[in-house]
Formats: sequence, structure tokens, C-alpha cells
Amino acid sequence: MYDMIIIGAGPAGLSAAIYGIRAGKSVLVLEGKTYGGQIINTPEVENYPGIKKMSGFEFAKGLYEQAKDLGAQIKMEKVVSVEKSGNREISDMEAAQSDGNEEGSGNDAPVFVVNTSKNSYECGALIFATGAKNRLLGLAGEQELTGAGISYCATCDGMFYRDKVVAVNGGGSTALEDALFLSNYCKEVYLIHRRDAFRGEQKLVDALEKRENVRFVLNSVVTGLMGEGKLESISIKNKDGEEKTLKVDGLFIAIGQEPETAVAKEMVAMDEKGYIQAGEDCRTTVPGVFVAGDCRTKTVRQLTTAAADGAVAALMAVEYLG
Ligand code: NAP
Repeated sequence: MYDMIIIGAGPAGLSAAIYGIRAGKSVLVLEGKTYGGQIINTPEVENYPGIKKMSGFEFAKGLYEQAKDLGAQIKMEKVVSVEKSGNREISDMEAAQSDGNEEGSGNDAPVFVVNTSKNSYECGALIFATGAKNRLLGLAGEQELTGAGISYCATCDGMFYRDKVVAVNGGGSTALEDALFLSNYCKEVYLIHRRDAFRGEQKLVDALEKRENVRFVLNSVVTGLMGEGKLESISIKNKDGEEKTLKVDGLFIAIGQEPETAVAKEMVAMDEKGYIQAGEDCRTTVPGVFVAGDCRTKTVRQLTTAAADGAVAALMAVEYLG
């Protein structure tokens, strides 16, 4: 039995692991994909206090090694379900220290069981740090053409499009960074956004405006994906309803994220968009269960806020455990 199980090895989960371990707790981190979360796709992290510039991959690797070296167990196993079962024995002193929560008081603290595709693990406190996944356009052919002209990761796939014509869809920092990155290698980059103002950082917009091979296609949405076996062109529609076809070799979709919270939905309350409900103390609606990072209800989703959530969730879990 572990003191703490953290689901997700992104910046929030690994930060929670560091804080949990340093508080003297046994910590297991479970991750179904690869460590690092979404930050591994960011070419350069320039806004994390204390770090001037570093690749997202390098940042994630450092965080992973830090958590592991401190003593966190990190297993690459996909969590398929979680449940609350039975009680763990806590000492009278712990019981006396507990904060009076329904399940946190007396000698009846629950045990949480986390089932992966391979094993089952038990813990006294559970932290969801499951992050978010790429939002899809939802167009016909999107799935079939993914990997054959359609990509959600410019840093992973951009090199395949050297000297080719590509489009990026989205108006946040990810789309702006992707367009900037691709403009280093590609012949031409269309940046398609549904409004005329960008949500992402102005510094990135300024940099893009200086690139001769970047074309802004504003007030427009992608309406169709065409190609046999691989993407050959896309159709776009502007706010006046005019449609046109753009011949492109690649389309990079960067239209935001959706929370990855399916595994938590039977246990804790969510908002209408599927984010796990919790305030700045990262406590969910279930005592002993905490949430950190992009999957939590909040207004600012950044690397810094994910790391901050990790620290808060772990310390709240430590307090709960006594
Ligand atoms: P985001 O900020 O949520 O932006 C998503 C963009 O996609 C928005 O411009 C949105 O348009 C557009 N969009 C959403 N649904 C769409 C649809 N169905 N069709 C067409 N367009 C659609 O997502 P993100 O850029 O991935 O960034 C996520 C978070 O990570 C943000 O907090 C961001 O600041 C952060 N981030 C930070 C950095 C960095 O600091 N270096 C880098 C990347 C990301 P509207 O604007 O019209 O809503």
C-alpha cells in the first residue's frame, strides 16, 4: 500500500511526486503514455521562472529524473479504473490530527484502489494529474489522414515537411509556436484562425509577422480535408461564407485541449466541460482525492500553474494523511 498514488506523469503529477516524497511519503506515479505530458511537444520553454530557455523535452526529462532520484516509483501503466474500498488503519494520533472530514476523521480513512491494465495498487490518498488531450476538428477523414498529412505535433512531425506547404489551424500559443517552428523549414505556412485576434502570446504574433513565408488566414475555419491515402488539400470558409481550397502537404491542428478525466468520472464531481471540480487547494469533492494541473477547473493553464498545483495537491494530501 502506498501513501499516495498520482495518476499522470506530466509537470503536475511529477511536481506532486517531488513534494510527496520530500514530505516522507511513499509515492507511486502511474502513466499510460510517456512522462512529461504536453510540454514535451513545446520546442522552447521561455516562461518558466528561473529557466531562461529550455526545450520542453529537456524540461520533462529533468523533472522525471528529479522525481525518480528522490525516490518516487514511476510505472508506465495505463490506469483503467479507480475505486474507494474498505478502510486503512490509522493511529489514534493520526485520527486526532485529522481535520474532521467525513472520511478523514476517526479510524475509518478509506483505501483507494487504482487498477491498471496490468495490476492493482492501493493508497491512502489519490491525486488525479491526468492533464488534457488535443481537441479534434471533428471532420470526415481526420482520423484516417492522421499521420498521412495531419498532425497534432509540429515538433514531432515538422521535419517531414521540409520545403513543403503546410497549414496550422488555431489561434493560441501552441498554434503560433507551431507556425513559427514550421516556418524555419517549410516553403510556405498558412496560419488559419477563426477570429482576427489571437489568443496566444503577442510576442509570437510579432515574430510571425516578420516571417516572409507565413500567410495569415483569419476569420476562417477548416471545413474539409481532401486526399486519397494522404492529405492533398483542405477547404476553408471565411466569416462571409466564402469557401476556397488550399493545396497543402500538411495540416497541423492546434485548437486547444480537452480534459483527460474519463477515469475519474465515477469518483469525483466534474464541471460541464469534464474538468475535475476543485478550488486552489486542489481538494475534490471526495476527501482523500485531489486534482492537479490542466484537468482541474481553473482559468490559467500553464506550466507554472501545473507545477504549482502539483505542490499544493501533494501537501494537501500529506495533511490529509496525517
Ligand atoms: P488554447 O489557448 O485553448 O487555444 C486554442 C485555440 O484554438 C484558440 O485560438 C481557439 O479559438 C481555437 N479553437 C478552439 N476550438 C476550435 C475549433 N473547433 N475550430 C477552430 N479553432 C478552434 O490552446 P493552446 O494554444 O493549445 O494552449 C493551451 C494552454 O497552454 C494555454 O493556456 C496556453 O497559454 C498554454 N501554452 C503556453 C505556451 C507557452 O507559454 N510557451 C505554449 C503553448 C501553450 P478562439 O481564440 O477563438 O477561442
